[in-house]
Amino acid sequence: MPRVVVAGGAGFVGSHVCDRLLERGDEVVCIDNLLTGSANNIEHLYANDRFTFVRHDATTHVWVPGPVDAIMHLASPASPVDFAKLPIEILKIGGLGTHNLLGLAKQKDAKFFLASTSEVYGDPAVHPQPETYWGNVNPIGPRSVYDEAKRYAEALTMAYHRHHDVDVRIVRIFNTYGPRMRPDDGRVVSNFVTQALRNEPITMYGDGSQTRSFCYVDDQVAGHLALLDGDHTGPINIGNDGEFTVAELAEIVIRVTNSKSEVSFAPLPIDDPTRRRPDLTEARTKLGWKPMIDLETGIERTAEYFAKIIT
Ligand code: NAD
Ligand code: UDP
Repeated sequence: MPRVVVAGGAGFVGSHVCDRLLERGDEVVCIDNLLTGSANNIEHLYANDRFTFVRHDATTHVWVPGPVDAIMHLASPASPVDFAKLPIEILKIGGLGTHNLLGLAKQKDAKFFLASTSEVYGDPAVHPQPETYWGNVNPIGPRSVYDEAKRYAEALTMAYHRHHDVDVRIVRIFNTYGPRMRPDDGRVVSNFVTQALRNEPITMYGDGSQTRSFCYVDDQVAGHLALLDGDHTGPINIGNDGEFTVAELAEIVIRVTNSKSEVSFAPLPIDDPTRRRPDLTEARTKLGWKPMIDLETGIERTAEYFAKIIT
């Protein structure tokens, strides 16, 4: 039975990765320091004897006894609100944490999977974004702690691949949403859905004309497993290529939740990307993967989740 280490496995995306791996019969060792994750996301797995949780900070030496077949590195705060609150932690997990986990992969002769991001494209001058685009990142702006940490993590991963022959996979994740997001993580879907459920004003930054492409978490994780299991190193974009303005997202959220909320406007954050949409040609042709869940359906499922956990 394959034994997979999931760093960041108590987070939003990581906990769904743990679920899918266990469902298919793998053994999972989840490493997480609960910085932005929560034990609530994995407590349903504690009774499974193929699941182990180790509370540990991956920026310090990481050791896992016994054989390991794959290491999936999803550990990192990921919300723009976290970029302001946890800048050093983000740089450390992207740098030191990636280094420690790559060292473990080399030692164990395990496959290494890196969760990178569409943020490596910055405020993109090429649209939609193919993997061949090198990006437009402000290296000293407020988002740089995250963007540059992930760019460094990709470079380190490719160095271990080329220099130490570690078998690697790199996924570039585009805006992903769904159950187990933190209601207060500050991201647009969590903010809009919780505001709509409470009939509070919807906080639109800028005029709402900036675009994003929103991927439901089940689709995202299916893409991760297709990449992990296949022969393609990447980097490979995984997301949904339906592109929506933030204003359109607000309309959908208000309609789906049948909310009385109205839109209120606030300034656009510095370096907020004006548009973002993945070119999914590589994912479709090389992995045989495509997103299945449309935005309205995904928002319905997310709203059901938030309705249960918020007051
Ligand atoms: P999340 O904050 O919910 O999950 C990250 C997890 O990593 C948390 O459980 C956190 O406690 C853990 N963590 C952070 N620092 C750690 C450390 N030093 N040691 C051990 N664990 C640590 O975020 P998420 O949205 O689930 O993101 C998961 C991964 O996907 C991240 O690497 C993120 O950069 C990437 N990603 C996510 C999105 C998205 O839209 N959700 C987009 C692009 C990339
Ligand atoms: N946004 C917004 N209102 C909010 C939160 C975010 O208008 O309450 C906007 C934000 O400025 C950005 C988009 O929604 O243009 C997506 O923001 P998010 O923080 O979800 O992620 P990003 O894609 O910027 O990393």
